Amino acid sequence: MARRFAALVIAATMGIATARADPPRVATDVAPVHSLAAQVMEGVGKPKLLIRQGASPHGYSLRPSEAQALQDADLVFWVSEGLTPWFERSRQSLAPDAQSIELLASDATRVHAYREGPRFSDDTTEASSDHAGDDEFGHSEHDHRHDHGHDHGQSHGAGDQSQQPDAQGGDHGSGHAHSGKDPHAWLDPHNAKAWLDLIAARLAEADPANAPTYKANARAGKAAIDEAVQEVDTLLEPVRAERYVVFHDAYQYYERAFDIPAAGAISLGDASDPSAARVEAARDLVAGRGVSCVYAEPQYNPGLVATVLDGTKAGTAVIDPLGTELELGPSFYPALLRDLGRRMAACF
Ligand SMILES: [Zn+2]
Repeated sequence: MARRFAALVIAATMGIATARADPPRVATDVAPVHSLAAQVMEGVGKPKLLIRQGASPHGYSLRPSEAQALQDADLVFWVSEGLTPWFERSRQSLAPDAQSIELLASDATRVHAYREGPRFSDDTTEASSDHAGDDEFGHSEHDHRHDHGHDHGQSHGAGDQSQQPDAQGGDHGSGHAHSGKDPHAWLDPHNAKAWLDLIAARLAEADPANAPTYKANARAGKAAIDEAVQEVDTLLEPVRAERYVVFHDAYQYYERAFDIPAAGAISLGDASDPSAARVEAARDLVAGRGVSCVYAEPQYNPGLVATVLDGTKAGTAVIDPLGTELELGPSFYPALLRDLGRRMAACF
């Protein structure tokens, strides 16, 4: 009790010292990050979403209201240069004084390298065993936990002047769109929980008066995620041996977290149009390797999925790494985990 009282006194004093009447203004890039920030800020304020639901973050232009929200922001939480190569330039011109927190750059984030080619593993028996991507990259999941700053042999992040040709030979329009690190890291619940803590810590720093609320909210958010993870594990248990192909290489964080590895992807991780050869290879994969489902995504070209499915017996369903149809807010993130699990399980 005494400790709590002391914390309140300190918080109140610091509140006066910084003379901050309003909570910090927070802007976030995509809906999952918005959800985590909304969870942390519950009861204090509401973050702004910069990239509207239903749009691909890989290429996007801010609308005037979104540019305004960015301009007004004190703190900006965003995933990474690899997800939104255009973003940092907008941030620097519109909100040069804002604190910019690139979540993928945090040591607490578990990062995986992008996978190569339309087929993720040559071993058909591997589908029901351990993480299919591991052998291909020569890493185990645990190797990735603290590998920041290491080069996966193909990184070309911001500031890296290496001129390595892209392994896929794809045309990404911008020089950064397909960085070596897979940016879809919000689909690992471990990362989402780490980001709740990180967001709470940064907000507590900026707004000490509300620090106890931010921290309590982060704790509650982590408990809600744990609950969703248990449900999804149960849901996916009966379909773990199924083989499936995804539209773009966006799901490996989810695949690894829930031990349900994809057989391959039609499109690259930046969702750029695949080459004709890659589409053909994806079709061969579906036709010849016991693939029972090909997932389409609402943001992208359904014609390509039809081409890949043509003449095969595989089924199809729509999954969405950004939860386009889900309601924004604190409960969005656990709902996204459940939504993906349900949609995946239903296709088999
Ligand atoms: Zn993507």
